[in-house]
Amino acid sequence: MPQKKLLNFLKDCKHSLILMEVCGTHTVAISKNGLRSLLPPNIRLFSGPGCPVCVTPQAEIDASIELAKRPKTIITTFGDMIRVPGTRTSLEKEKAEGSDVRVVYSPLDCLDIAKKEPEKEIVFIGVGFETTSPAIAATVLKAKEEKAHNFSVIPAFKLIPPALQALTGAKDVRVDGFILPGHVSTIIGADAYGFLEIPGVIAGFEAEDILEAIRMIAKLIGARNRPPVQIQYKSVVKPEGNPAALKVLYEVFEPSDSNWRGIGTIKGSGLVFRDKYRDFDALKKFDVKMRSAKEPAGCSCGSILKGVKTPPECKLFGKKCTPEYPVGPCMVSSEGACSAYYKYGNN
Ligand code: SF4
Ligand code: SF4
Repeated sequence: MPQKKLLNFLKDCKHSLILMEVCGTHTVAISKNGLRSLLPPNIRLFSGPGCPVCVTPQAEIDASIELAKRPKTIITTFGDMIRVPGTRTSLEKEKAEGSDVRVVYSPLDCLDIAKKEPEKEIVFIGVGFETTSPAIAATVLKAKEEKAHNFSVIPAFKLIPPALQALTGAKDVRVDGFILPGHVSTIIGADAYGFLEIPGVIAGFEAEDILEAIRMIAKLIGARNRPPVQIQYKSVVKPEGNPAALKVLYEVFEPSDSNWRGIGTIKGSGLVFRDKYRDFDALKKFDVKMRSAKEPAGCSCGSILKGVKTPPECKLFGKKCTPEYPVGPCMVSSEGACSAYYKYGNN
């Protein structure tokens, strides 16, 4: 349906709706296309916990930085992670001080480094959702096959469904419907959200896709016998997801409780190595202890990730905290809500 028709439909919507776009890329697309300002005032969009870098708690960032200080150690990571401030420093600062921190574009790059520099330990910071973790699991399988004993992973992965379950049960969070992530759902499938008691629609990433998903949610509100979730992004998302990717993922990892920035510990929402692959667990290999760490003073990332605040409601937004001098991860990450609001405005 064209954008104009979709907006006309939504202008006639009588419900007062608070919807959460779970995925960071949706947040960016919404801001870039000014969708918040096009919607009627009774339909409000809040960002959720869908930026993997943003939900990684301070303790895990600090642990990664500690490992970067080890001699003969190369820390590898995806781009945004390097600039996230830890309690005292960041990977970027440690790199400037002489630590070997490298940005990789594929986890397989780590195995190339491991082969070329066998006298060093290569540690990959495993941050990401179900979109990323199967590729890391496949890399671990390859590392085992190739006997790459100098490669390991910090398992800081998160699973989306348990987080949504936790948010819908949280007393301080109001969500009437979820715009569900496209890429994650390609892997886990629509059936993985069968527990949802509020409407959810898996959406694509164009402005029309997101508006269509909002229209579908509005139609589901109050409907009798409604399906748990609907798929707007039908070209790639199937009810069963991608069984081959899930098989690889759960061969190497198993679910465990995990701590999310701002949300706290959520049952079964993270991944740990199965015993068979524990030699690749960097936390065990280097006996890394997670120390409790506070979020940066004044930073509201936690509330933003729960959908109870918008970035401009943080006192530091655009003042002490900017993309050039970020205080919290939501301003660092390209998928972070604060960065999207700063770049495209509050619309
Ligand atoms: S990995 Fe894909 S689905 Fe997940 S948050 Fe990022 S863009 Fe969204
Ligand atoms: S604007 Fe900065 S300090 Fe405020 S919540 Fe966002 S990242 Fe944290």
